[in-house]
Amino acid sequence: MPQRTVPVSSRLGDVRYEIRGALSRRARELEAEGRDIVRLNIGNPGLFGFSVPEHLRRTVETQLPRSEAYCHQQGLQGAREAIAAREAARGAVGAHADNVFIGNGVSELIDLTLRALLNSGEEVLLPSPDYPLWSAATVLNGGRARYYPCPAGRGHLPDPDEIEALITPRTRALVLINPNNPTGAVYPRELLQALVRVAERHRLLLLSDEIYDGILYDGAEFHPLAPLAGETPCITYSGLSKMHRACGYRVGWISLSGTPARFGEFRAALDLLSALRLCANVPTQWAVEPALTGPDTMAELVGSGGRLHAARRAVLDGVARSEFLDVVAPQGALYAFPSVRTQQFGSFDDEDFALNLLETENVLVVPGTGFNIRERNHFRLTLLPQPEEIGDVFSRIERCLGRLARS
Ligand code: PLP
Repeated sequence: MPQRTVPVSSRLGDVRYEIRGALSRRARELEAEGRDIVRLNIGNPGLFGFSVPEHLRRTVETQLPRSEAYCHQQGLQGAREAIAAREAARGAVGAHADNVFIGNGVSELIDLTLRALLNSGEEVLLPSPDYPLWSAATVLNGGRARYYPCPAGRGHLPDPDEIEALITPRTRALVLINPNNPTGAVYPRELLQALVRVAERHRLLLLSDEIYDGILYDGAEFHPLAPLAGETPCITYSGLSKMHRACGYRVGWISLSGTPARFGEFRAALDLLSALRLCANVPTQWAVEPALTGPDTMAELVGSGGRLHAARRAVLDGVARSEFLDVVAPQGALYAFPSVRTQQFGSFDDEDFALNLLETENVLVVPGTGFNIRERNHFRLTLLPQPEEIGDVFSRIERCLGRLARS
């Protein structure tokens, strides 16, 4: 008799999340053996000594007694009003608390919006590299990922003509991640305007993941998509995890913009799916209003002299010193996405390299293919460690690459 095991949905067949995948499990085993692993795989500020701004933490503590009941499925009214006011101030058309939905992180809302949108076999245009939850949620909701390339050779920017060439009658949405994870690219205004024109011509829903919208380096300018999209239906995603270093609070939101009538039944679909999961965590939703109306606590970290500014500099210096590496300088977000010049290696594979780096140098990075690219010579690291530690990490990376080049 064959052993009976619990069956697994075939929908999971194409689903990967390498950021917390096999290498991360291996790192845990090594740690259990007493090794000290430098974990650069997750953009989780709280693990690197960053803390949630005091005024947000205090608000949550104070409001805890008022957080015992479920709230409205779309989220606390005051929080939604603060989000809508911010969107309106930026110039988003139709910004209103009724068009804001709060979730347990942007993660939940990526899944929820794609679930509301997709029928089986319908297509979503995703950047390659992408943040892999976007691919996973597309597939898990019956859709198909169509990737538009954002190669290092052009600063990890997309090409509107290439995107347009991928559109079929089954294409439903165009996803942008700006500032980008994993590449750090920040999209220029003219590019965003061109992408809006593509969406408008083909009646695609614009989905703009802007969770890193204020994490910008060296004068990079961020342009929110919603105001540029105008009447065109657009969903903007953001939250507390990155800008406010509150990953564990699990609070994210979406704001719908564009002519309300063009959303048709979609708004009601989001409302229904939100109601089915009752509501997002209530206590931490209280932090949204002070986060959006209080001081900008990110500016000092990314500005000259700030810790993230110095960390990014340390990455650029590490790459500049390297015999093997190139990188497009990140303009925003919390990561760098270096590439290895493979000519100096007999063969090169990003997953083998990342495993070797972990086993021999105790450094955990994420192989580039974990972000749905074809090239096998990239890796991602987060900018969250202390700058001195990043310098040391690049010495270890160089040692590992040197050994592989000679082998
Ligand atoms: N979108 C992007 C581009 C991200 O990098 C992340 C987390 O790293 C998320 C969404 C998920 O964020 P949240 O913590 O709000 O679920």
